[in-house]
Amino acid sequence: MAATPPLSEFKPLFDDLRRQTRLLLPPNEQRLAIDLAQSSLHEWTQLYDRVSGRLTVAVDGEQLSPGQAFNLLDSPDAGLRERAFRATNAAWTTAQDDCAAVLSNLTWTRKVLADRVGVSEVAQPLANHRLEEGTLAAMMEGCVASRPLMVRYFKAKARLLGKAKLDWYDLRAPLGGVDRKWSWAEGQDFVVAQMERFSTEMADYARQALRDGHVEVEDRPGKRQGAFCIGFSRSHQSRVFMTWGGTTTNVLTLAHELGHAYHNHVMWDLPRSRRRVTSTLAESASTFAEALVRGAAMQQADDDATRLALLDEDLGTAGLMLCNIPVRYAFERALYAQRAQGPLDPERLGQTMVALQQEWYGDALGEPDPMFWAAKMHFYMSRPFYNYPYTFGYLFSGLIWARAMEEGPAWAGAYRDLLRDTGAGPCEAVAQRHLGLDLSDPQAWTLAFAGLEERVARFEALAGA
Ligand SMILES: [Zn+2]
Repeated sequence: MAATPPLSEFKPLFDDLRRQTRLLLPPNEQRLAIDLAQSSLHEWTQLYDRVSGRLTVAVDGEQLSPGQAFNLLDSPDAGLRERAFRATNAAWTTAQDDCAAVLSNLTWTRKVLADRVGVSEVAQPLANHRLEEGTLAAMMEGCVASRPLMVRYFKAKARLLGKAKLDWYDLRAPLGGVDRKWSWAEGQDFVVAQMERFSTEMADYARQALRDGHVEVEDRPGKRQGAFCIGFSRSHQSRVFMTWGGTTTNVLTLAHELGHAYHNHVMWDLPRSRRRVTSTLAESASTFAEALVRGAAMQQADDDATRLALLDEDLGTAGLMLCNIPVRYAFERALYAQRAQGPLDPERLGQTMVALQQEWYGDALGEPDPMFWAAKMHFYMSRPFYNYPYTFGYLFSGLIWARAMEEGPAWAGAYRDLLRDTGAGPCEAVAQRHLGLDLSDPQAWTLAFAGLEERVARFEALAGA
């Protein structure tokens, strides 16, 4: 029946629902699980929010929230970064018993439900992301293989900071390149011009969105931080929210958010059932547009300090996606194994976290962060495994990028078709159809890492290694 024309457009949706249904318990048990979720899941998450909301971090005589203290890790002042890190961890240590209790209960509930269905703890998140476990394993294999390269980058960064090893609180330390200032007009022109080199349609869309005032960039007091893009399905329009400070990072952000808006734009005429983009594929167009602009900004940079700062921003993201997120994923899986033996213990959680950081950052890492498990809000959210989709999205965009660079502007139409297909069906099918790649094969992922070695080598050379 699903093959007949009026229904065929819903086939991916039906397939998806069928797959989700296999993860449900018999109706009465499922109903009970839903009723109990209020206390077995949501209220624990709320308790964590209250506990973290009460914490104060004392840095240099000032009482800060954990979020404010976290922002100090971007400071060029090494001493301030270290003081903020120690004060933050001292604060989290006072809350570690509560945090461990929350994790213990969340994990237990999810474990009981998964065991009852007879699946692993990642089955449900993977179904939500329309991803197979074999794909995740193949992707992680790629991350493991890229570790030595990332370790080289971390070591070079440590040397630039005048240290033998990189401490956890140095991962985001700025390298102090002289950043050129961009006027809003220059920023817009630059982004549109880079899009034009690959796809006239993408550039035309961006030009129109900017001309129509769909991008809000005013720098004013009281405006919230961050950037995002939101699509309105009735008017078939998108709006971008960000603040223009004239930095190169702002230019990249503009490209990123316009990439999201273009992604929406090419999908508006599709039926709603084909516009359900998972978080695993949602960053495909944004990361691509950002890469177009980053490459051009790098070519245009006329001094080594700017080149170094741009590469550091680029490789810092790679470090986050290829090392930091895998640490979080491995830690979250470890919770289930530990919870099977009894309630989670804060000491052991800290040891597990440190061991994973040392495994992924290797001998480039100086001081690890034993309280990362308590401070990282993502472990405490209602939806588990809020981690690997980031890495998947990043690497999947890398695969798209590799293909686009190989084929050039002639591939712009095929790129558009790929984006249009991201709202339905499994991620593997999208890759197979549009890139001819089997994502369950670790070999397929190597393309996504192809440019990494050259970028790390360039960073090392600039760092005078
Ligand atoms: Zn994004």
